[in-house]
Amino acid sequence: MKFGHLIKIIMVYALSCFALTAHAQPTLKYFPKGAAFEAKMPTPESYLGYEIGDWHISPDALTGYMRRLADESARVSIETIGYSHERHALTHVYISSPENIANLEGVLAKHQNAKSAAEDILVINLAYSVHGNEASGANASALVAYYLAASNDAWVKEYLSKTVVIIEPMQNPDGLGRFASFVNQHKGDSENFDRPHREHYENWPSGRTNHYWFDLNRDWIVTVHPESKARIKAYQKWRPQILGDYHEMGGGTSSYFFQPGHPKRTHPLTSKDNQRLTFALAEFHAKALDARSQPYFTQERYDDFYYGKASTYPDGAGTIGILFEQSSVRGHTRDMNGVEMRFQDAVANHLATSISLLKGSDAHRNDILNHRFNLLVENAKKAKANPVKAYVFSDDGDRARAQELLDILSLHKIPVYGIVGKINVGKKTYTQNHAWVVKPQGAQYGLIRSLFETRTTFEDNVFYDISTWNLPLAFNLPYSPLRQLNNISADPVDTAYKNEPVASIVSAPMAYVFEWKQHRAPHLLQALMADDLQPRLSVLPFSASTTDGKPHAFKAGAIIVQPSDAAGHEKIRQVFAKHPRVKTHGLSSGLSPYGPDLGSRNMKVLQPIKPALLIGKGVRPTEAGEIRYAVDMAFGVPLTLLDLDRLGSTDLSSYTHLLLADGDYKSWKKSPKVLKEWVRSGGVLIAQKRAAIWVEKTIIFAKDKKDKTEKSAKKKSKPEDGAKEDTPVRRAYQDYEQDVGKRTIAGAALWAVADLTHPLVFGYDRADIPVFYNAKKALSEPPISYDTPLVFAKENLLITGYASENSLKKIRNTPAIALHRLGKGKIVLLNHNANFRAFWLGTQRLYANALFFTQAIETRKDED
Ligand SMILES: [Zn+2]
Repeated sequence: MKFGHLIKIIMVYALSCFALTAHAQPTLKYFPKGAAFEAKMPTPESYLGYEIGDWHISPDALTGYMRRLADESARVSIETIGYSHERHALTHVYISSPENIANLEGVLAKHQNAKSAAEDILVINLAYSVHGNEASGANASALVAYYLAASNDAWVKEYLSKTVVIIEPMQNPDGLGRFASFVNQHKGDSENFDRPHREHYENWPSGRTNHYWFDLNRDWIVTVHPESKARIKAYQKWRPQILGDYHEMGGGTSSYFFQPGHPKRTHPLTSKDNQRLTFALAEFHAKALDARSQPYFTQERYDDFYYGKASTYPDGAGTIGILFEQSSVRGHTRDMNGVEMRFQDAVANHLATSISLLKGSDAHRNDILNHRFNLLVENAKKAKANPVKAYVFSDDGDRARAQELLDILSLHKIPVYGIVGKINVGKKTYTQNHAWVVKPQGAQYGLIRSLFETRTTFEDNVFYDISTWNLPLAFNLPYSPLRQLNNISADPVDTAYKNEPVASIVSAPMAYVFEWKQHRAPHLLQALMADDLQPRLSVLPFSASTTDGKPHAFKAGAIIVQPSDAAGHEKIRQVFAKHPRVKTHGLSSGLSPYGPDLGSRNMKVLQPIKPALLIGKGVRPTEAGEIRYAVDMAFGVPLTLLDLDRLGSTDLSSYTHLLLADGDYKSWKKSPKVLKEWVRSGGVLIAQKRAAIWVEKTIIFAKDKKDKTEKSAKKKSKPEDGAKEDTPVRRAYQDYEQDVGKRTIAGAALWAVADLTHPLVFGYDRADIPVFYNAKKALSEPPISYDTPLVFAKENLLITGYASENSLKKIRNTPAIALHRLGKGKIVLLNHNANFRAFWLGTQRLYANALFFTQAIETRKDED
């Protein structure tokens, strides 16, 4: 069935909220006939050579158009706030009255220093297409900018005299470019709405993610990527009162969503006033979409919980963040369950709600201007009522890791206080210069508290994303809530990193040693191996005399490098100089007062590694991206991205490691055999979550005549208290979503317990390690008793986040890491995400260990 008339209605209706009367100049079909625009202002069509939506705009063309508008219009200026990984410009396009644009710094100062609503100016941030394949937002941004820059409408001029609109045309240019290139190449001359048409099914990985396949709409707090760093810096400078966040959604039916989201899934630290204003603005979006006969929905499906998203971070930081979701056409034209929809329709909807957000902000101007100041009063009350006044955390003897956390706080303009002397909390001691204090306060009270609190009870159990993002746990740094503010510096302190002098290696030692615990140690180890300096791993603790005259006790996992000549010394020093954040020691003797001497067989030479990450359809792109980022960026190891389709035709013998991310591997028919043979001949296979379960099933415990010597999996222990599974015979139809929510651990922090003597867990001082868990099934125990270096805790498993008692029972006391031996090779299985979003740095070391140290693991057998 076809509804061609609907398309016509959409085009004729255009945007009723545009009250435009004067003479028409542009031929833009997005605007009503008779709309008056300044003739000299370039339309997107005149700049691009095609109407918006006829083709998908490229990142460079979109930036080019915005720059052109800034050149032509006194209402527009543009700032490059940063660059993406692929070096696309990230821009803020400021649109206001010519007077405000000419004095933008003055306007900013007024906004920053305002003490009341009367002194303030309204700042609206419109942020488009953080997911690159949700392109209608980015394409609409050119029309929104044109409208505001060129319209002769009296309302627009009046509005801009009192408002600064900041347009962020595309939040993820790398993903947008990938998507635009894919869909443009499949567009034909004749319109094709057919759903199976290749245009509607992107290649792996889709344009949703950025260059490293990360979802930038989960990166707002942890700000791993340059796109997010630039964005948060600009956000914190302007601190807009409203932020509109424009997306597309799947589902295949033509609809539209705008917040308010699910009423029970708003973060409890978000103010009620924020939600009240979100409701007030929603009326304007409804009106704009009603005028376009566009169906829409609110208050379901999407939540407002995780503060790491574009529409929710602002809610915790004092801004009203609003999410908009347009049904995705996935190309230029597509049949949406009987409705033939054009990309232009999607663009027109986002254009309409961009304008309705401005209209709504104007109608509720005073209320919105007051929000910021009311929030300060409300937050002060909340802070006073909370017995926890602050949080203290220490550097754990690894300043470089703590620095990553300090840098995040600094980017979010969260004040950090020093300690005077020391603070004792229970058994923990926090000392001056090695620990810091953060107080939840001010406009960002909600955001700050969410970074440090633990929370295990929730109003609802369905989460659109993770349920915890406690930073000290993610970084595995000791921390405590404080009920009293004693021994804390009066003012915030400077937390910038200052490199320590590399003093100990000046006096030509006979060897160099560094502790593995240090955050950048894997990167340094790789650099030494790449330079053929033959670093060695101490698998036992030892003590040694250092060149600064002091004996030093080194832990198992310490890396030793011993040059044979002066050239070697020079080479090593050059490598160390590039790693100033790793503290190194010079040794004056190879004789160890305690533990193995330097020439012992317990000082194992580490061979260079050459890993490949298997990618392609079925593999979860974000987790593949996290591994890619860790190996490439954090460890500095060149990583081959090997397509699954090429597995059978590639000579695997040159690879030391094959890496499998979480994913659905059922459809690979040939691969288990190829992988098994490769492991037998000496390879190390590392697999996580669903890949690990698949490897257990198809490689480790698969029945194979050759494998007579391999033992079968030990039986999993039954739930301890003999509780039955929750399998009722009948359930209420409407309970389904809640039931699924109860079964799912969308992302929680769990305690795992380490065998600190195992090479796969070197670099840890404490056996209790917080891990990020969002898997589904439990791993089997490996056949040999010495091969479970990390196990989920038996008791007190859940630290923070949502997990039902039933789902916790399934994983309690099962392996978080299991080692298997096969022929000359080994398999490391992880049942958690050690590289989660590149910020769970507390477990990133586990992945480094699997990469660098599996080769040092020796034979272990149980008694027969
Ligand atoms: Zn999206």
